[in-house]
Amino acid sequence: MDFTEIRYDSDDWELFARDFLSELGFTIESPPDRGPDQGKDLLALESVVGKLHSYTFRWLVSCKHFAQSGKAVNESKDEPNILERMRAFRADGFLGFYSTLPSSGLNTRLCALRSGGDIRDYQIFDHRLIEEHLLRLGFSRILCRYFPKSSKTIRPLHKLISEYLPIACDVCGKDLLEALYRENYKGLVAQVHIPDEQPGIERVEEIYFACKGKCDKQLQKLYWQKYKTSCGWKDLSDLAMPTEFLRWIMATLNRLRSGEYRYTDSAFDKEKHLILALSQKVFREMTERERERVALLVSLPF
Ligand SMILES: [Zn+2]
Repeated sequence: MDFTEIRYDSDDWELFARDFLSELGFTIESPPDRGPDQGKDLLALESVVGKLHSYTFRWLVSCKHFAQSGKAVNESKDEPNILERMRAFRADGFLGFYSTLPSSGLNTRLCALRSGGDIRDYQIFDHRLIEEHLLRLGFSRILCRYFPKSSKTIRPLHKLISEYLPIACDVCGKDLLEALYRENYKGLVAQVHIPDEQPGIERVEEIYFACKGKCDKQLQKLYWQKYKTSCGWKDLSDLAMPTEFLRWIMATLNRLRSGEYRYTDSAFDKEKHLILALSQKVFREMTERERERVALLVSLPF
């Protein structure tokens, strides 16, 4: 991901931090503004629920956007008077929100403050940790808003219906769709075809999702023992490409129309699940206006 997409000569980094932390479940107490107090950026409240009592933990969020120069956040130059700033805002913890890394001096200082009991805790969101979160489910809108260029290549997963649909391996349960961020050509979809009782008709008996290798071999063996047939398969990495996705849908429609194929209920359900789940990757994120329109349309019959 390219953090220089966020302009450094504006408030965009603070706005990004605000939206990012809100998505993580924090309540943002002070809006991003650049007053005379340059030390204060945001205050983020975290509700901590215990067994006997609950309380609100207040984080002083310091936003530093040095991606352009790539330099680390330095203790004396960039984060002076941490303790004074924390006390002024009655903050419990210090949260660094950085587009680069903290210097080792800053790390040592924060560690000493915590072990000395001066602050209750500290946490650094550096560019790596932020990126890791952005690639998870739920951050696609923030990713598209603040990183329009990166999001085109990353293609974040976004919810199209009320809940996220994974493509779980039918053997080990691993989410093969989510794994497409980290690895290519490791998951597949396979179809088990057998002759139908009715002559001239091929029955799509079962469709399965599996990790390539061990999990797939286990299912291949199972279906071979059961039906004495080998399975046709396709890489999920290939199907996640728009043209291949469309070709797959067209092939399925043609099969259904031809009258030469018959899907069992379970295979047909799997087919629909595959198309819905992959759409979360292949389709683009909806605009705000489209979301509003869809909210209206779903109340009408199709
Ligand atoms: Zn598996």
